[in-house]
Amino acid sequence: MDSHANSQETGSAAAREDFADPRDGSVNIARVALDRHVESGHGVQVALRWLGKDGARRDLTYADLRDLSARFASVLRDHGLNRGDSVFVLMGREPELYACALGTLRAGLVFTPLFSAFGPEPIRTRMEIGGANVLVTTAAIYRRKIAPWRDQIPTLKLVLIVDGDGDAPEGCTALGPALDAASPDFPAVATAPEDPALIHFTSGTTGKPKGALHVHGAVAYHAFSGRHALDLQPGTIFWCTADPGWVTGTSYGIISPLVNRVTMIVDEAEFDLDRWYSTIQAEGVQVWYTAPTAIRMMMRAGAEAAAPYDFSSLRFLASVGEPLNPEAVTWSAEVFGQPFHDNWWQTETGGIMIANQPGMEVRPGSMGKPMPGITAGIVDRTEGGLRELHDGEIGELALRPGWPSMMRAYLHEEARYAKCFVDGWYLSGDLARRDAEGYYWFVGRADDLIKTSGHLIGPFEVESALIEHEAVAEAGVIGIPDETAGEIVKAYVTLNPGFEASDGLERVLRGHARKRLGAAVAPRAVLFRKSLPKTRSGKIMRRLLKARELGLPEGDISTLETDET
Ligand code: ATP
Ligand code: MG
Repeated sequence: MDSHANSQETGSAAAREDFADPRDGSVNIARVALDRHVESGHGVQVALRWLGKDGARRDLTYADLRDLSARFASVLRDHGLNRGDSVFVLMGREPELYACALGTLRAGLVFTPLFSAFGPEPIRTRMEIGGANVLVTTAAIYRRKIAPWRDQIPTLKLVLIVDGDGDAPEGCTALGPALDAASPDFPAVATAPEDPALIHFTSGTTGKPKGALHVHGAVAYHAFSGRHALDLQPGTIFWCTADPGWVTGTSYGIISPLVNRVTMIVDEAEFDLDRWYSTIQAEGVQVWYTAPTAIRMMMRAGAEAAAPYDFSSLRFLASVGEPLNPEAVTWSAEVFGQPFHDNWWQTETGGIMIANQPGMEVRPGSMGKPMPGITAGIVDRTEGGLRELHDGEIGELALRPGWPSMMRAYLHEEARYAKCFVDGWYLSGDLARRDAEGYYWFVGRADDLIKTSGHLIGPFEVESALIEHEAVAEAGVIGIPDETAGEIVKAYVTLNPGFEASDGLERVLRGHARKRLGAAVAPRAVLFRKSLPKTRSGKIMRRLLKARELGLPEGDISTLETDET
């Protein structure tokens, strides 16, 4: 395997490679991602290969993307927008989205991508929190979701419409003609490393989404982690399937790949098994970064569905967003000739923190080891502060702050931000344990931990055991209050094709879990569902299963996607 795992480059070396302009110490993500490559003679390399829903294809070279982003920056300037102003983008994965992202950064404004399928209310609250000055969207989204309340966002000065031939809705500006008329000459603004660059909203899995602020200096870590966690090299054909509306789709779907001068595949369409498999084959994808929810869908379709395709171009597969069941690791190794490498990080951390890194032995079910230069620990919150736990003990996953892509604030939530830091550690809110060889194992979200008859149970362990059964496609496990046991374990599952929900199957699944996990940990009840409630970024919302079970209010469900009982 091509590998950099033994390279001498470390996190602190990454910090030295800060991409600062020697003339003034400025760092601008757009300059590092685009201009640098064009200036060093790589302007003709394809930066972005776009695959349209309807079969259309479009290639943008590094020079094309630089020019388009410069035109977008000029449009912002021509409309009187200034450094630090806030640009929201609400559109599908089209080339213009990428030009807007980089043009915003080039001009020194702050970029916030939102997932285009959001409803009006989640859009409005996020634009309020982010103080949106500019919105880039389509005419249809604008008419349906924005126009009714546009006046309620007084900061909003400019709405740019990406589609249509110049006939933008009233009060909006057509982007196409504006780009054509704008100057392609717009050198990147000399932003300081600590200048705001991006706002990303968290997935809302555990509650109301937070707006995490990231700075231009983060680019040093995007560059480093792309190489060392994903094996990105100049010219690599890379496909990150995440939408830029989530942090993965920006850190590793825009910035890291471009900074590392790869050719990125951008697919406009949503998940479709045959389309995905044929894309890998046709485009010769070498590095593929996706999420457990998609991998479980592939598993559900079976190895037969993958058999007709040639996956020999693939050299590194990685997964993020949710725990990757051990079953998925072994399955992928058989089907793709490469296992998926799990890695762990958060919107807050801006980049990959713990990973099964290229060249490292993969331990199915483990998130891997901390990246070079990243110090992780397992801690326990006590009255007097934090206590570090020993190998094997379950506690909260914590990190020593200091890497460049760490968030600098939760917007308008200072107290919530401050609470993340104790005794020089950043507390992730996730529970994990570390084994004697330094691998980290995810246990669950702190909120999802189940305490039953003196045992502490992470839902992931129970879910993984259920998924091992041939009938089960996905599982979500929660604890519900019980007078004698404290809590009892309850599981919700979806089934693979060919299996029917029945009392008999319920008993079989409980028996299977008991055999694998022991009576104390196995679920007392297994319920069948058509799908599990998930966030749009593909995470199972266990808190929602629990709230419903207990008849409690559902809380913030602005990011909820699938939900069929
Ligand atoms: P919110 O903070 O709003 O509740 P969220 O935590 O789901 O939402 P993200 O920042 O998108 O928002 O997701 C980060 C979280 O996703 C992590 O804290 C962790 O719980 C989970 N996660 C990410 N990668 C992994 C992984 N490899 N294994 C297990 N869990 C993971
Ligand atoms: Mg979170």
